[in-house]
Amino acid sequence: MPAETMIEYQTVEYQTPAPRVARIVLNRPERRNAQSIRLLYELNAAFDRAAQDDDIHVIILAANGKHFSAGHDLRDTDYRAALDDFPTVGTWCGFGCDGAEAQMALEKEVYLGFSERWRNIPKPTIAEVQGMVVAGGLMLVWPCDLIVASDDATFLDNTVAMGICGAEYFNHPWELGVRRAKEMLFASDPVTSQEAHRLGMVNHVVPRSELSSFTLSLAERIAEKPLFALKLTKEAVNSAQDNQGRVNAMQTSFALHQLCHSHNQQVFGIPLDPAFMQTSFGKAVKMDDTFGRRAAAE
Ligand code: ZN
Repeated sequence: MPAETMIEYQTVEYQTPAPRVARIVLNRPERRNAQSIRLLYELNAAFDRAAQDDDIHVIILAANGKHFSAGHDLRDTDYRAALDDFPTVGTWCGFGCDGAEAQMALEKEVYLGFSERWRNIPKPTIAEVQGMVVAGGLMLVWPCDLIVASDDATFLDNTVAMGICGAEYFNHPWELGVRRAKEMLFASDPVTSQEAHRLGMVNHVVPRSELSSFTLSLAERIAEKPLFALKLTKEAVNSAQDNQGRVNAMQTSFALHQLCHSHNQQVFGIPLDPAFMQTSFGKAVKMDDTFGRRAAAE
């Protein structure tokens, strides 16, 4: 067994609901599964556990509570302890450096780095999605191979309202097509599960009451297949997409994203445009100045 199995998860659950199926569950429902740094490292550890277990063929990513994920936790007071508790996964490092480097380094590790890493897990992954998926929430859903959504699910990237040019894992054009991706970002309006299905972003839309059973049934049918064939099939499809320029495009958008943070830091003293606080969504989030303090401390 991987040594990682000794980790006591605080923010995710690891389940094996059927033979050869792992089900990883986001478990911060009281925070609408907002992604603290600890949650992201625990999620990465859980993905590694499933990836390294040869008896697991399929991985489901689900979430407890009404909403799948409200995005990055902008009031994460535990982030420094979490960084100390987990070994750094990437090689970039420099989380305490001056200027723009700390922000870029951290986001390269836990946002773009993790999402790209999970996208490349060679086993089939299925996102089981309900309620709201906001900004950073997309970066958990989109790396999965298949997406099953409940009929009440919505997908929103409101980062432009924050003075940012889209979430760090910039897969919007590949998921929605160029024109719908632009509208999603420009207008910051939610995409419904029905529209996401019509555009090919979502595989299935099902009633909320049937979401888990439908997803598990799909996983079980996949899990019957030979694992190596599943792995190579995923590699083949991912390779087709990457040869269309996905990786290079995402590196460009990540650099532009960092320019946005740096610009906001210079103009407003925090990496987001504070005008966001005056929007209805910003007021609902009640973001305090923790994000600013975090950047200053680092
Ligand atoms: Zn960012």
